[in-house]
Amino acid sequence: MNYFLGIDMGGSGIKMAITDEKAQILDKTSIEMNLKADPKTILSQTLSEASKLKFYDKVKAAGFGSAGDIDYKKGVLRYAYNLPQWKNVPVKRLLQKMSGREVFMDNDANIAALGAFWIDLKGKCENLICITLGTGIGGGIIANKKIYRGSSGSAGEIGHISIKFDGTPCNCGNIGCAEAYLGGKNFQNYCRDYLKDKKDALVKSMTDGKISNLTIEILYEAALKKDKEALFLWRYYGEKLGVLIASVLNILNPDCIVFCGGLSKAHNFFEKSMKEEIAKRAFKTPAKICRIIFSKYSNVLGSVGAAMLPNHQKQKKQRRCRQDMR
Ligand SMILES: [Zn+2]
Repeated sequence: MNYFLGIDMGGSGIKMAITDEKAQILDKTSIEMNLKADPKTILSQTLSEASKLKFYDKVKAAGFGSAGDIDYKKGVLRYAYNLPQWKNVPVKRLLQKMSGREVFMDNDANIAALGAFWIDLKGKCENLICITLGTGIGGGIIANKKIYRGSSGSAGEIGHISIKFDGTPCNCGNIGCAEAYLGGKNFQNYCRDYLKDKKDALVKSMTDGKISNLTIEILYEAALKKDKEALFLWRYYGEKLGVLIASVLNILNPDCIVFCGGLSKAHNFFEKSMKEEIAKRAFKTPAKICRIIFSKYSNVLGSVGAAMLPNHQKQKKQRRCRQDMR
């Protein structure tokens, strides 16, 4: 049996897991991210923590994923707007030197998609889209069981599909992007604004009288208590998400969409309106065959997906070699 280490680095923490080649987690841990520390120090701390995991000695290769613009072939993190110290960091080379193992690298959305492919679908799916509903809206595409990266490695930016022609400005410079409505912070701001003059909303009594205290978590708690304004806002979230998903279904025709990330936990409150919107907008056949799953494994999709990268990349190379020989 071969063992692999997966590392998933984010703005708030670094998650690690050791898996076997079928993506079974054998051990896992995490450390907090220090945004001010030098990248080399962070990588060395990460490995020192990983080396305490069970089966670390038997680890054959490792995968590393993080947010940002990544040259996955060279294994360089070019930049990430939420990781200011990380500019042109040769993560692959550094980790290989420190660990003595071969290291593979990809962005957070792609490793989450690979994690969902293995954990949620057990590898039994041809075309999968993984959408992270977090602070931002991430997208990872698995096409014919392989990560689809596009021509410059930039594919999968599903959160930056415009869902409104003359809509809200987005951080990326475009306007009306899905992320401008569905990203956690943006949705939270929309809710604060909407609730300003809703005097009797239960959700307002949960923010100590200050609407600026409203968080997505409180909005979720209020929906659990059946607050009608909170339920209305989650329905609105589902409608906007449905508009996005209808386009995704029409363009990519996946057999499965997996949602993960913090906001996906509230799916009971937005799934219905999302599906209604999909039914109104998407072509019937792709909408009918696509399974929609809300992952229960959001916390480990990234680290497990990273651990599955070495095998994924090697199989891709072997396939290419076989095709070249024909
Ligand atoms: Zn955008």
